[in-house]
Amino acid sequence: MEHQSSTPHVLIFPLPIQGHITPMLNLAELLCLANLKVTFLNTTQNHKLLTRNTNIEARFARYPGFVFSIVPDGLADEHPRAGVSKFKDWSSELVEKLALSGEPLLREMLVGSTGIDKVTCLIIDGWISFANEVANEVEVPVIAFRCSSPCYMWTYFCIPKLIQAGDIPFKDEAMDELVKSSPGMDSFLRYRDLPSFCRNQDTSSCQDLLHLFNGEIQRNKQAHAFILNTFEDLEDPTLSLIRSECSKVYSLGPLHAHLKYKLSQKETTLCNNSSSNLWEVDQSCISWLDQKPNKSVVYVSFGSLTILTKDQLREFWAGLVHSKKYFLWVIRPNLIIGSELDNPTPDDLLEGTKKRGCLVKWAPQQEVLAHRAIGGFLTHSGWNSTLESIVAGVPMLCWPYFADQQVNSRFVSEVWRIGLDMKDVCDRTIVEKMINDLMDVKKDELQRSMDKISQLAKTSISEGGSSYSNFNQLIEDIKAMSKKGEH
Ligand code: UDP
Repeated sequence: MEHQSSTPHVLIFPLPIQGHITPMLNLAELLCLANLKVTFLNTTQNHKLLTRNTNIEARFARYPGFVFSIVPDGLADEHPRAGVSKFKDWSSELVEKLALSGEPLLREMLVGSTGIDKVTCLIIDGWISFANEVANEVEVPVIAFRCSSPCYMWTYFCIPKLIQAGDIPFKDEAMDELVKSSPGMDSFLRYRDLPSFCRNQDTSSCQDLLHLFNGEIQRNKQAHAFILNTFEDLEDPTLSLIRSECSKVYSLGPLHAHLKYKLSQKETTLCNNSSSNLWEVDQSCISWLDQKPNKSVVYVSFGSLTILTKDQLREFWAGLVHSKKYFLWVIRPNLIIGSELDNPTPDDLLEGTKKRGCLVKWAPQQEVLAHRAIGGFLTHSGWNSTLESIVAGVPMLCWPYFADQQVNSRFVSEVWRIGLDMKDVCDRTIVEKMINDLMDVKKDELQRSMDKISQLAKTSISEGGSSYSNFNQLIEDIKAMSKKGEH
């Protein structure tokens, strides 16, 4: 048996938002199952929420080499910490404050002055690029985990090229034209599909963007390797492009399915519930779904950060009710700007919702998507939601909101053909029509492509599959790094 001190010790540091904590906790548990020591750096605020809303402590208590460490996120107590307006993104504020608050502790942890075992590898969120510099200074190898999609990561890497080639800034009239200088994507990526921050730029703001991106990309590339939550068969061409610029890339996804598979292989009573919700889950929707026919329900969720105006809420609501389909809709407490609707809700919407709708504040999403009653997913195209839909084999209707979602929805509709893209439109008649396309008119063709891709996802995480083998390689490499650090 290996001597205790030679066991690698990995420190994991996610950006403290739902869509990043979930895959990084899944990775942490996979590393624990491979008998590595893991410290997971959570913010005080999120740790409180996780402890209140999930079985997180019991889930990780069964791994003796695992500990949580806590750091304040640096935001004021009264900061809402959720709901991202397209126009005022607080994530840059979060990263900035987290850097101030987290850097001293991170440095102490890496040099070993906090009493924890020596860290032999740091796995950081790709957005926490300040950690690269600290780790490089103290010579701890860094692996960057990019939680967003690889197709977005590649687009992100191309931003300086696009600015230099004059593709950005672009005019509103050009939205539906193809982006000329996007290597590997020039046959299908339109200006409309570029990450949301590329819009509304002018020549001078582009110079700032160029400067920012050159710095960010450089810092990102200081990482020894990248972990991506995808699988080779889904994004082979994009992964080749990324590999042409980054020496080592491990595709390990879909991580939630990968973890589930590994847990199911263990001949123990390890609990298979790996939830990591920051909100309290409403399980009542499962018994509501139990009463519905197969593939008859549209599941509607816009993730943890999107916000809707009251007008958008009404258009979605009317479109859903008029489609005459059953719907299960997640309305997070902070989903809508302003808490109450100004005008009274029309009776037909209330009636239609009573007959065919179920509204919850937060759903057990993976369980919902796996339910036989779900026939389609109206989604904001967050990367976790996209992967969860793929694993469950549920075709999507995409209404991307910001960041990687514009790119993801284009891949879903044009490249993988497993969904429809309703980007930039929020009108009740279109919502109604596209829900009917998803659930009836185009149902069979979407389901056929989805079934193929869903099967490839499952193969990739099973023994011998690409994500399964890449994970073994990652463990070997982390062990080798740890040995190197001993000399
Ligand atoms: N989610 C959930 N219940 C809900 C809504 C969302 O469990 O009612 C989870 C979903 O399963 C996914 C995450 O929240 O894992 C959202 O991540 P995603 O990347 O899709 O979007 P983001 O919230 O980052 O925009």
